[in-house]
Amino acid sequence: MLKGKTALVTGSTSGIGLGVALCLARQGADVILNGFGDAEGPKAEVAALGVKAGYHGADMSKPADIEAMMAYAEAEFGGVDILVNNAGIQHVAPVEDFAVERWDAVIAINLSSTFHTTRLALPSMKAKNWGRIINIASVHGLVASTQKAAYVAAKHGVIGLTKVTALENATTGVTCNAICPGWVLTPLVQKQVDARAARDGVDNDEAVRRLLGEKQPSLQFTTPQELGELAVFLCSPAANNVRGVAWNVDGGWTAQ
Ligand code: NAD
Repeated sequence: MLKGKTALVTGSTSGIGLGVALCLARQGADVILNGFGDAEGPKAEVAALGVKAGYHGADMSKPADIEAMMAYAEAEFGGVDILVNNAGIQHVAPVEDFAVERWDAVIAINLSSTFHTTRLALPSMKAKNWGRIINIASVHGLVASTQKAAYVAAKHGVIGLTKVTALENATTGVTCNAICPGWVLTPLVQKQVDARAARDGVDNDEAVRRLLGEKQPSLQFTTPQELGELAVFLCSPAANNVRGVAWNVDGGWTAQ
């Protein structure tokens, strides 16, 4: 279905980004990966699906790096058709103790990077009159939790940016939508499970039960693959008129 298209997935060396990248590759899209840590393993997983796999190590907190990554995509892949803004970090502290440097980093990586990739990808998408921008926001783009001021602010911002981008391109073949996961068991969340286990003096399984029980009525994690399949749907012709939505995949979290 996506043969001939190029997908750039930010923060795709692990977790949700890698899951989405693999689902898009299974549909035939060439994939540019990005993120820290081991890139060769994920790149080989994508290439094994018979598509062209690339990687750029841009630090998503740095606009100049993002510009270099988009130039790489243009030079090596002829531009980006599917942009998945996924890179993200978390930091947990009450507002009055929130380190200023951590606030700046969360806003830069989770929100501003999405603005930069979007502004740089749009001209070529509009020229081709086809494009898909998929922003991995969060339930925290829709509702808040304590201790997550920067993350909640950034994710609410991502949903706002999603709506503006969708509206500005509403008469074109370029759509923009957000996916809002609840808990997904990735390295980002494992750190929060570990913190819960240490705080409550319980083992990993009990910490998971407590974490899910607090917010996610299904008591199950959403998987990166499930989110990847939703991204595939948003790239399909059936989603041509799905514009500016914030689609939660949260086991009932925001239905409460
Ligand atoms: P993860 O930690 O597994 O992956 C994050 C990815 O972003 C990694 O590839 C990492 O290398 C990359 N990254 C981090 N900082 C970067 C930077 N400065 N420049 C480039 N890459 C950078 O986390 P995840 O859980 O897969 O999260 C992915 C996205 O999904 C994030 O935006 C997160 O907010 C969102 N999300 C996650 C959950 C969850 O429960 N895991 C829920 C809702 C939303």
